[in-house]
Amino acid sequence: MKKIILFLILLNVASFTFAQRTLIHSGTLINGKDKNIQTQVTVVVEGNKIISVDKGFTKAGKDDKVIDLSKKTVMPGLIDMHVHIESETSKDSQVKKYTQNEADVAFQSTLYARKNLMAGFTTVRDCGGTGVNISLRNAINAGTIVGPRIFTAGKGIATTGGHGDPTNGSRRDLMGDPGPKEGVINGSEDAYKAVRQRYKDGADFIKITATGGVLSVAKDGSGPQFTQEEVNAIVAASQDYGLHTAAHAHGAEGMKRAVLAGITTIEHGTLMSDEVMDLMKEKGTYHVPTIIAGRSAAEYAKIPGYYHPLVAPKAIEIGSKIQENFARAYQRGVKMAFGTDAGVYPHGENAREFGYMVEGGMPAIEALLCAMQTNATILGVGDKIGSVEVGKLADLVAVNEDPTKNIRTMEKVTFVMKEGVVYKHE
Ligand SMILES: [Zn+2]
Repeated sequence: MKKIILFLILLNVASFTFAQRTLIHSGTLINGKDKNIQTQVTVVVEGNKIISVDKGFTKAGKDDKVIDLSKKTVMPGLIDMHVHIESETSKDSQVKKYTQNEADVAFQSTLYARKNLMAGFTTVRDCGGTGVNISLRNAINAGTIVGPRIFTAGKGIATTGGHGDPTNGSRRDLMGDPGPKEGVINGSEDAYKAVRQRYKDGADFIKITATGGVLSVAKDGSGPQFTQEEVNAIVAASQDYGLHTAAHAHGAEGMKRAVLAGITTIEHGTLMSDEVMDLMKEKGTYHVPTIIAGRSAAEYAKIPGYYHPLVAPKAIEIGSKIQENFARAYQRGVKMAFGTDAGVYPHGENAREFGYMVEGGMPAIEALLCAMQTNATILGVGDKIGSVEVGKLADLVAVNEDPTKNIRTMEKVTFVMKEGVVYKHE
């Protein structure tokens, strides 16, 4: 016994003595937490954590490794609050629903996961798919495949015929009667059952589709699709299990109901009224704008036959309004997060959203901070990720230029580190 203890102590001392430190010489540093921008900083990484952030370029000791980013801008790994990691837009997406098996979805999702990571998004919140997203998250956490840290809703929750009802647009005999397990609820009891099922499945948060949507094969894109009682039940049940909530919403009435119920984030928010904005400020609700999704959908809608005939007019009408709404909501002081709806446009182009936010009137540094500490806080991991600080996980990315001077440099991330492991260095 004594021998074993001695051996364990020696092992510990050994690992302590020989732990390699990585010194990251950063030309410019955006810390993720405030607007302060520093130059010539050394970020010291040991294992998966940041152990020190020092002024100047620290000289390397004998066992230290240096990563030279002295001509680049370094910042915390980016966080996207709205992706669909299982799928990507294509002309035949409606058909794929009936031709792809779960394994097909799983294999393609690994590619999308990698694209998000390589674009600098070390963490993403997956706003709903088939449920494969939960296995994908687990596989990434286990180190089986490469991808971002995923927080997933599993399957989103809709009402019958509503946006996200998985059988919309199907032949009648294929429609069946999906229920809470499949993500379709009617009434408070169903709402509880659906939330509890997701908790059991291993979802990290709950996503509902509070109003119609642009890309579902249904006429209406903006009307409310949950009663106040239903959305109240969703939020109350989620809170019981410590899960935060997100509501896809285009029209004001559905948004209002979700905000009143205490939803954490409003996704898209296209036709947000002044009344809803003020209510969001009062309740502390975050807005996840997804401007890039609106802009992309409006573009695809112009390609003949790209979308179903019921979808195209909605994409043109709603898609073009998202940026306008973002500008108004920002001016009025609504709390902003960063999210893009990746999958509605090609994965990996997420950072284009920064440019659209700046175009909408938000200073670049504020747009960046949304994708850093703000998003980390919403996810409940503000103490682990979101900034370059001692004790945080070593999620770091770099770009060639100072993004506060040229925001589009964010679209070309040249260095990606997640939990101390380098995945990209160009
Ligand atoms: Zn979405």
